[in-house]
Amino acid sequence: MTALPKKKHTRARRGNKRSHKGLTKINGFACSICGAPRIPHAACKACGEYNGKNFNSKSEEPVEETSQS
Ligand SMILES: [Zn+2]
Repeated sequence: MTALPKKKHTRARRGNKRSHKGLTKINGFACSICGAPRIPHAACKACGEYNGKNFNSKSEEPVEETSQS
């Protein structure tokens, strides 16, 4: 047997609990290459560009490769 609530919570109490559960807006911006909406700190879903490199899986390797290890 699990613990069961003794009394029904009121609509106001239920609403107060759910008032903190809302979704937050994603701070997106338009891609400078293709103009599609994209998420910050992630490669563009449309063209795969991030930080001057192309990370699109359809194309080959990234255009520029850094020599640092
Ligand atoms: Zn893009």
